[in-house]
Amino acid sequence: MNIHEYQAKALLREVGAPVSDGRVVTRAEEAKTAAGELDGPLWVVKAQIHAGGRGKGSFKQADSGEKGGVRLAKSVEEAAEEARKMLGRTLVTHQTGPAGKQVNRIYIEDGSGIETELYLALLVDRQTSRISFVCSTEGGMDIEEVAAASPEKILSFDVDPATGYQPYHGRRVAFALGLTGGQVKQCVRLMGILYAVFVDKDMEQLEINPLIVTDGGDLKVLDAKIAFDGNALYRHQDIAQLRDETEEDSKELQASKYDLNYIALDGEIGCMVNGAGLAMATMDIIKLYGAEPANFLDVGGGATKEKVTEAFKIITSDDNVKGILVNIFGGIMRCDVIAEGVVAAVKEVGLKVPLVVRLEGTNVEKGKEIINSSGLDVIAADNLRDGAEKIVKAVKG
Ligand code: GDP
Ligand code: MN
Repeated sequence: MNIHEYQAKALLREVGAPVSDGRVVTRAEEAKTAAGELDGPLWVVKAQIHAGGRGKGSFKQADSGEKGGVRLAKSVEEAAEEARKMLGRTLVTHQTGPAGKQVNRIYIEDGSGIETELYLALLVDRQTSRISFVCSTEGGMDIEEVAAASPEKILSFDVDPATGYQPYHGRRVAFALGLTGGQVKQCVRLMGILYAVFVDKDMEQLEINPLIVTDGGDLKVLDAKIAFDGNALYRHQDIAQLRDETEEDSKELQASKYDLNYIALDGEIGCMVNGAGLAMATMDIIKLYGAEPANFLDVGGGATKEKVTEAFKIITSDDNVKGILVNIFGGIMRCDVIAEGVVAAVKEVGLKVPLVVRLEGTNVEKGKEIINSSGLDVIAADNLRDGAEKIVKAVKG
């Protein structure tokens, strides 16, 4: 689960990390009062969306001003004016996709004087099964670009969970970032705070880009992006409350309510599969035959007819879907349950695109019978390759 920058900063402030004072507003009328509560003489006005690259982004509407989603202002009035121009408008960044994201919240922050911009992230390194500090002197830039152009400028250090965070970890980060004098001490303290809160709150990723050295020579968190482990949310009521459902894909949100493993993608073939491995293989083979999957969906082993019905409805609600491939190898999952779910969903929402069904495994005969006697216009397939070939042909001709 992702949260907004202003929420991340509030959390980091609470545990003692250096962040600027700021106010969040949802209406243009509140902006002047909010900006007036900050000291100045510089204000930063920041669009709050769950995507990075805001500074270099652009707005769809012509009356939003020429600038991106992060703007500097020299007075309270100017800050309020910039907030007004961005609220309700659609910001497009390299992370939002061409559709962009509507800006419903603005964070107005005390501006900082910047000496240098650095990059820092904490993440769970799946290769070492440890929490890793990733840092670079190339802060404020797109880290993927740094990784492609000059990978040697990105350094990472693991923390052994048996010892936990030790000051020498912080010193390694400090030296890698070229910090000197009192900044090293600040860095050691800050890394300790970040590591502790990362573990404590079950974070998956904590990215600070940029971490800055201010013109006064101090370290400060200028941007913050936090992703939490969704599987651990049950033990963090405070974090779960930070969820902003308007930022999430409506289909994924719906799927999560039914406990379905669904990820929206931008292809044209909707997929309903059981088992994550088979779901991945299904997406691969769709690509192999020249089309793109519209989603990943693993309906799981113990899915009920209701759950299958809901999954099918979510797939058909996607306007990009030009065909659907149901690919079930029933082990624990029974083919008749899948068939009943598909038939029930089609009865409810209709079927406007070709449907290829491949059923194999437990209760396959019963499943096929349910589909055959339903009157549904289904193209039957015998195996994975046959299924993929048929759905791509049905969609692409
Ligand atoms: P992002 O574009 O979504 O990553 O948003 P950031 O919060 O990282 O801001 C983008 C850029 O705006 C930063 O890299 C800085 O160069 C600049 N910026 C942000 N806050 C301040 C500030 O307080 N003072 C100054 N001078 N620049 C800032
Ligand atoms: Mn940033």
